[in-house]
Amino acid sequence: MKDSSARHRIVVLGGGYTGVMAAIRVARRTRRHGGQVTLVNPTARFNERLRMHQQATAQEMAHVDIPTLVQGLDIEFVQAWATGIDPKHNGVTLATDHGVASLDYDTLVYAIGSSTPVDVVPGADLHAHTLNDPESAAKLARTLTEMPDGGTVVVGGNGLTGVEAATEIAESFPSLRVVLLGRAEPAPKMNAKARAYVLGALERLGIESRTGVEITKVLPDAVELAGGELIASDATLWTTGFMAPALAADAGIEVDAQRRIVVDPQLQSVSHPSILAIGDAAAIRRPWGVIHGTCQSGMPSGAHAADTIGRLLRGKAPKPFRFGYIHQPVSLGRHDAVVQFTKADDSPGRFHLTGAAAVTYKETVTGSPTTTYGLSRRWVIPIAFLARKGPRQAG
Ligand SMILES: Cc1cc2nc3c(=O)[nH]c(=O)nc-3n(C[C@H](O)[C@H](O)[C@H](O)COP(=O)(O)OP(=O)(O)OC[C@H]3O[C@@H](n4cnc5c(N)ncnc54)[C@H](O)[C@@H]3O)c2cc1C
Repeated sequence: MKDSSARHRIVVLGGGYTGVMAAIRVARRTRRHGGQVTLVNPTARFNERLRMHQQATAQEMAHVDIPTLVQGLDIEFVQAWATGIDPKHNGVTLATDHGVASLDYDTLVYAIGSSTPVDVVPGADLHAHTLNDPESAAKLARTLTEMPDGGTVVVGGNGLTGVEAATEIAESFPSLRVVLLGRAEPAPKMNAKARAYVLGALERLGIESRTGVEITKVLPDAVELAGGELIASDATLWTTGFMAPALAADAGIEVDAQRRIVVDPQLQSVSHPSILAIGDAAAIRRPWGVIHGTCQSGMPSGAHAADTIGRLLRGKAPKPFRFGYIHQPVSLGRHDAVVQFTKADDSPGRFHLTGAAAVTYKETVTGSPTTTYGLSRRWVIPIAFLARKGPRQAG
């Protein structure tokens, strides 16, 4: 790794949506102020997490490569897992293909995302599929492809990820029976018309949607509901819950109940200010509560963290992060979608899109991060183009 004696070493952990955004922007923001950027990710291939349900239904994905995304900038890409952080000595331990390595930082950007925990319900860890990473999605794709006609797929959790996955599976594998299970109605944060549209799409695709149910166990060939009912399942997909990795918590950095680093309005860790956290792995408070993990909020948080670092290096006071939600874009297979436009706090607004217009909108949003990286390599995009500002007060 590079000699770093004179320069301010900025290490970005995680090359997902937010980490790549932060790395590109901080490289631009600090290039005249001695910034040296290293981006760490376990794979050189960029994982388009927004397309995980497409990967899980065996759809061909474009190969997007992280070194290509950051090319032309002074960013060193290191392919490795971060296995430990030593915040006292500003060091990170890495597991690489060639063994253990270490990296020192002056500023660390923590962008390692989140996953759906499978330790909440017995058996989910052993018998359920997830959309947590490309390997898990590929395993489900193989299972679905090999499943005989009439096989049953149970999707546990009918949040937006569950709805996207169930509709994608039902559309791609029409000979399979898809059962979608959840406690509440799907899409509870949409207005009545948009929610009715989602329910109509589930029905049209033949998905058996059951609400008011609690899965208590995942078995190799069934799920058990509270009360003891068994629903036979040839493959169970677990989509509910949210947890950040344990890395920060293990290092003694202050985290919340979901193990997200608790940050101040500048996105600096409240316990270790030389660490900034962004995206799903950050607990960012707004007046209505903590921002929940979305790309919509994550991309601007990555940009803002870069701006905070740039300002600190220039001896200026960083500005508080401001953000408000705009939309909930949800695919319903490849040929249908619904987009609920929202208020800043993510509660539903009056307008929504459906059908072909919503499909185009959703695809544009899903493809927008890579477009944004391309533009960001050339100039610093005003954050107002990346996000709605939302209220000033942090709450
Ligand atoms: C099926 C699905 C559909 C979704 N749809 C939407 C949507 O329509 N709109 C929306 O806004 N959001 C959506 N989301 C949520 C969105 O994908 C996340 O909020 C977003 O990916 C968060 O970005 P991130 O950079 O924080 O994490 P990620 O994009 O997950 O990136 C984290 C990166 O860190 C790497 N990493 C993890 N651990 C380590 C480690 N120890 N060392 C080094 N690197 C590590 C990972 O490999 C990964 O590359 C969806 C999620 C799923 C699963």
